[in-house]
Amino acid sequence: MSPRKEDKLLLAFPFGCDIDCVFCQRNRHPHRTAFAFTDERWREVLIRFRALMRVLRRRGVRRLCLGGDEPTMAPAWLLESVVRMGVKEGFTYIELMSNGVKLRGRRLVETLVKAGVNAFLLPVYGPDAATHDAVTRKKGSYAALLKAIGNIRSFPGTKIEMHTLRLKANQGRIRETVSGMMALGLKCAVWDLKENETDTHVDYAALRPDGALPRKQRAVDSRVRKDRAPNYVKYNICTERTY
Ligand code: SF4
Repeated sequence: MSPRKEDKLLLAFPFGCDIDCVFCQRNRHPHRTAFAFTDERWREVLIRFRALMRVLRRRGVRRLCLGGDEPTMAPAWLLESVVRMGVKEGFTYIELMSNGVKLRGRRLVETLVKAGVNAFLLPVYGPDAATHDAVTRKKGSYAALLKAIGNIRSFPGTKIEMHTLRLKANQGRIRETVSGMMALGLKCAVWDLKENETDTHVDYAALRPDGALPRKQRAVDSRVRKDRAPNYVKYNICTERTY
């Protein structure tokens, strides 16, 4: 069966996050554990990544998506190596799914683009700094996002996709949020909040917009049981559409 256009290999970098979105609170995840890999272990991880890439490429998949937690929290050498590996293995669409905070630095954007990233998926939670920063709980994150957009656009041919989430915190501001991005020449998708069954630390009821029904999401790997997964951290919900 030939791959669908949207089929992709999604690699997650679980190194925590530099913001603290109200609906995610990644660093407080009850199943999070710190990990420190030896050089040997990293070599094994990269060999597995390459094997995975080859399997998917043989099936015709051309999209490689790099997520997190926040992928720019991963060691720079690791992120760059994986991007370069993706290019070498023949992925033609390499997307970084980031909150944009670290991308306010043009040098990082340049490094990633030169390595092979040609698309960025970024979240915006409101039409202004007050709304966006209240969701991310990081003052300056909206300003950083706008800076990141400018940096990415300075590399012609690099794609940006924006998305926002319907939340109580931005209730009534979604249209403005989308039109704000359109004014910058960017499309902005609107997603509903999905409630992860493993995110027991998040008070979803308090986050849902008035009248919204809960949208439950099961764990990615059905073999993983939340009560038996001390090393398991559910993939973040800021940057991914379907899984
Ligand atoms: S939603 Fe994404 S950016 Fe926000 S805290 Fe979670 S991992 Fe970080």
